[in-house]
Amino acid sequence: MEKKNIDWSSLGFGYIKTDKRFVANYKDGAWDNGTLTEDDKVVINECAGVLQYAQTCFEGLKAYTTEDGHIVMFRPDLNAARMKDSCERLEMPVYPEDKWVEAVAKTVEANAAWVPPFGSGATLYVRPYMFGSNPVIGVKPADEYQFRVLTTPVGPYFKGGAKPITIKVSDFDRAAPHGTGHIKAGLNYAMSLHAIMTAHEEGFAENMYLDPATRTKVEETGGANFIFITKDGKFVTPKSNSILPSITRRSLMVVAKEYLGLEVEEREVLFDEVKDFAECGLCGTAAVISPVGKINDHGKEICFPSGMEKMGPTIQKLYDTLTGIQMGKIEAPKGWIYTIA
Ligand SMILES: *Cc1c(COP(=O)(O)O)cnc(C)c1O
Repeated sequence: MEKKNIDWSSLGFGYIKTDKRFVANYKDGAWDNGTLTEDDKVVINECAGVLQYAQTCFEGLKAYTTEDGHIVMFRPDLNAARMKDSCERLEMPVYPEDKWVEAVAKTVEANAAWVPPFGSGATLYVRPYMFGSNPVIGVKPADEYQFRVLTTPVGPYFKGGAKPITIKVSDFDRAAPHGTGHIKAGLNYAMSLHAIMTAHEEGFAENMYLDPATRTKVEETGGANFIFITKDGKFVTPKSNSILPSITRRSLMVVAKEYLGLEVEEREVLFDEVKDFAECGLCGTAAVISPVGKINDHGKEICFPSGMEKMGPTIQKLYDTLTGIQMGKIEAPKGWIYTIA
């Protein structure tokens, strides 16, 4: 198969139209078989549930080429399960998990020419999503839905190495207690836009959100979970039911324990303890881990000993081990790597 003629290393994190996408429709209580199409346009009624009441959720995962030339995905079954949770919370019909993984794999395979080669640092980003498609004017769930899977090649997240970022403690809340913070609902991201633009205008890369009820505990950023390393080498990550359960974070917990022999704690993390940690990072599919060098709390700075030049040593080991597993250089735990071709 011939790859597209693209300068993979100069790609950013943006949308590029690829050849095929998957579309399935839900009507009269059932999903149709779904199909791959070249049509990148969605045509829906002006009063569609997604347009009026934001009834939509999504997932994000990557397909990439391993050292020995296979196209693989990382733990797509967990994305399928998480999208099921998102759909149930939003009163949307679940797309069956096994078929979900199949549809995602079929879409990637149909766009194999767009999967960046090994070593380019680039990957094929896969975006499954679902929305209410029929007219809804009273506030209620739609009766008809569309499930789609699109792919777009994205560049190496860190060009020229990962430099630690500076973030701020936000005065906005990301999620309500007992709300929708634990699911990948579009509405969570619409309401984060003002907060992130505000942070950017003030010169910060990201927001640290605290728990909205007490504002004493660390939650996450707009699109990544936190991990911390204590001065005595423990791996600590916040536990809260309004945090999006990051697959990267859950995988890093296994890597920390099983591969690096670290003690792992998933627990409530008070903001007051953050100043005592040795290293801090943000984790998610896009960047795997972004190191955090500094946190600004209303003018007061918390500077991690790992500094502003490079990742701290333990976070670097976690990063190298997880990306090594993903790229097929280090043996993966059973079931983590899904081979497409
Ligand atoms: C998607 C997302 C993450 C990262 O999850 P991964 O499964 O690791 O990609 C973390 N926080 C939020 C709010 C997210 O939307």
